[in-house]
Amino acid sequence: MIDRLVLDLDGCLADFTEAFTRLVSLDGIANANDRYWTCWDYPISVWGMPKKMFRQYMDAFARDGHYRNLRLLEPDASVLLGRLPKSVQVIVLTNRPPSTYADTESWLRIHGMDRYVDELIVTSRPKVDVLPSWENTLIWEDNLDNVRSFVDVGAKVIMRPQPWNVSHYTNLGLLGDVVQEVRAWS
Ligand SMILES: [Mg+2]
Repeated sequence: MIDRLVLDLDGCLADFTEAFTRLVSLDGIANANDRYWTCWDYPISVWGMPKKMFRQYMDAFARDGHYRNLRLLEPDASVLLGRLPKSVQVIVLTNRPPSTYADTESWLRIHGMDRYVDELIVTSRPKVDVLPSWENTLIWEDNLDNVRSFVDVGAKVIMRPQPWNVSHYTNLGLLGDVVQEVRAWS
């Protein structure tokens, strides 16, 4: 029985790497097509961007409202969320800077998901520390470290395949499969 669905944004529902790569490509730092990052610190380890510069770009990305305009990775997201049993609480949990809360909320509204989201949590804390219990919760996540920390506390996780975790995933769980799984368990 699943009581709660916890959805990640960047890398699951929202295309962060595409927008970030496009932003820095305007300064000639990267090619806009080089957006399939094979690790989370791709700009540093592959492009050779100094850490300080990476942080500055991340700050500018948040400050200038780019999180509001990210491409939706799952075009059917609102339809699929609407098919969840009403008893399932939907939480969007993202490790974005807390200052991006309003932009994140707008993004959910733009893509018709706000009406299905019971709670939006925008935090810089480790995700696994955010809720006191992960019982009866299904989590959809692309970050391998987060997946591991959720698994360590006994949570049920579906990892969304991405180039940065592709060698680790065992379940090709895109959002439709997540919805099917929640329905099956409800
Ligand atoms: Mg993510």
